[in-house]
Amino acid sequence: MNALVATNRNFKLAARLLGLDSKLEKSLLIPFREIKVECTIPKDDGSLASFVGFRVQHDNARGPMKGGIRYHPEVDPDEVNALAQLMTWKTAVANIPYGGAKGGIGCNPGELSISELERLTRVFTQKIHDLIGIHTDVPAPDMGTGPQTMAWILDEYSKFHGYSPAVVTGKPIDLGGSLGRDAATGRGVLFATEALLNEHGKTIFGQRFVIQGFGNVGSWAAKLIHESGGKIVAVSDITGAIKNNKGIDIPSLLNHAKEHKGVKGFHGADPIDPNSVLVEDCDILIPAALGGVINRENANDIKAKFIIEAANHPTDPEADEILTKKGVVILPDIYANSGGVTVSYFEWVQNIQGFMWDEEKVNKELKTYMTTGFKDVKEMCKTHNCDLRMGAFTLGVNRVARATVLRGWGA
Ligand code: GLU
Repeated sequence: MNALVATNRNFKLAARLLGLDSKLEKSLLIPFREIKVECTIPKDDGSLASFVGFRVQHDNARGPMKGGIRYHPEVDPDEVNALAQLMTWKTAVANIPYGGAKGGIGCNPGELSISELERLTRVFTQKIHDLIGIHTDVPAPDMGTGPQTMAWILDEYSKFHGYSPAVVTGKPIDLGGSLGRDAATGRGVLFATEALLNEHGKTIFGQRFVIQGFGNVGSWAAKLIHESGGKIVAVSDITGAIKNNKGIDIPSLLNHAKEHKGVKGFHGADPIDPNSVLVEDCDILIPAALGGVINRENANDIKAKFIIEAANHPTDPEADEILTKKGVVILPDIYANSGGVTVSYFEWVQNIQGFMWDEEKVNKELKTYMTTGFKDVKEMCKTHNCDLRMGAFTLGVNRVARATVLRGWGA
């Protein structure tokens, strides 16, 4: 199912559970602003290359719009719209004072040199600089982008508006980035998993995990889960998939992945078909890569009892239904991966205050937000007699709806 159709469907189910007025429902769904720009750059060989860049600003009822910028060949308007909308509900679930946005450029960052990526990022920033800002829209990294991308955006933006570190988050520490931001989404996944297991009378120790994706989110989640005594039996990334029933030695895999730019060829595990990783035998499955990977084709074969959505929109609504019927508990993306944007908020706060927190404070505050978020989601599950996805959606949508009405924008 198309990502936007799927996201709208979940929103509408939540709106119905909340009994939202149909005019308010419509106004919450329509994005605040959609930006599409042409980005033409000279390649290193002197030829010109054109790319399409997007920024969708979905909602700002609760504060500045917030969300990552993705560089990926599959970036398209529907996907960016869906992800922007998910950011609106995510920041509301996390209870941080932001709305939602998302951006992206349709490109394959692996095929561009560092200087081509820099030129592309600067051109994109030139096209959108008037529409982002500390109190309007604050970008951050997503798939295919990272601290260096944020440093280029900050520098380009500052040429027009003066030095403004709080205009992006996920920056390098030397430019006002927050300690703990790099690990934050993965650490949030750890805290979310602990909260869920605790509710089921379990702990991470001894549980068998499968992780799809070994980028920033998947690799940090793997490292922290391993340190907590979880056994990671299979891992995949774009280079391949590996399995070891006795548990993969994650510190060695991290070294291997750094050196070889992927998990493929790791000696401490056997290679497996990357398509089968989601259906490997385990207790807990963590999709930490692309959207829509759990769908009606593979949902019936999934063996995990718990799914923790570290990726954005990894589960199609059709798969949601199949899995829920099978009794699989799914911890939804808008709660499970909210650790990243939560520490982005801490970074923005530190920049505005001109004061730096130590890492211990960042991690402690993150734990508080993740634990509170879980309790708030569960409360909505009780109130509306619904699963965790609808618990999170009703929580997020209700907070945004209340802010919308209070500001006088309600129907
Ligand atoms: N791209 C991340 C997400 O999807 C982080 C967004 C942010 O920090 O603003 O949540």
